Amino acid sequence: MNAQTSRMPALFIGHGSPMNTLELNGFTRAWRSLGEKLPKPRAILVVSAHWFIGATAVTAMARPRTIHDFYGFPKPLFDFEYPADGSPEVAGEVVEAVKPDWVGLDQDQWGLDHGTWSVLAHLYPNANIPVVQLSINALKPFEYHLALSARLSSLRDKGVLVLSSGNVVHNLRLVEWNKPTEGADWAHRFDEAVMRQMAEDPAAILKLNEHPDFARSVPTPDHYIPLLYTAGIAAAEGRSQPLIRGYSLGSLSMTSYNVGPELNLPATAEGISDMPNNVPADQTNI
Ligand code: ZN
Repeated sequence: MNAQTSRMPALFIGHGSPMNTLELNGFTRAWRSLGEKLPKPRAILVVSAHWFIGATAVTAMARPRTIHDFYGFPKPLFDFEYPADGSPEVAGEVVEAVKPDWVGLDQDQWGLDHGTWSVLAHLYPNANIPVVQLSINALKPFEYHLALSARLSSLRDKGVLVLSSGNVVHNLRLVEWNKPTEGADWAHRFDEAVMRQMAEDPAAILKLNEHPDFARSVPTPDHYIPLLYTAGIAAAEGRSQPLIRGYSLGSLSMTSYNVGPELNLPATAEGISDMPNNVPADQTNI
């Protein structure tokens, strides 16, 4: 483990099905390997697709609750707890870092949602590092999120790992059950365009809003905006690497990114994640 004061990486992780929390599959094995290569941060700041509200807020409670924000999954997933502490101190540092933008301190509304704990259950399974979540302000344009992320990057020098959790391609209405480990042609095209943009010029990521496959890949912005936070940090740093390429159910990409030193993980992963069969995918809130 490196010293906690060295510059921390920033990660984007495609989180997929909440069942990844409990399963060992190609994706979660890759997350485990990633966790073994990561330094031990002082705290983790998570931008999760699943805290998409009309304000910019940061969790500031000492003991954030584990929120089970989905439908139709088996009981063991509702019983799962990720008992990491929060950090009022780091929440205060977020408030300072984003100035002149304003971020509210959330004392009692949110906690840790499955966008956060489905991934951290594998990256940091001991839950012994404080975690704060930043909401995604649904009222703000993409430009706001990109600019905010560049300011958050300074926290990396204070031992804070910035983890964005979403999916680059996330269209639950176009799920294809006969493609458990594949992506549709349009999903590949958009995912690969993002990969090129992240490698060549992450500061210009917003030009992909004009990509012919953008509307199908990003039918709602919640799972895509976390990528903008990693892109903004990658633009400030000047480089990023794709990690853990893979697809699920035709219409989800699990591709992930790292900003920081190379981590040398296998380039691709393949995993089958269970999904409830009694609830349509577009009503599961994954
Ligand atoms: Zn999700």
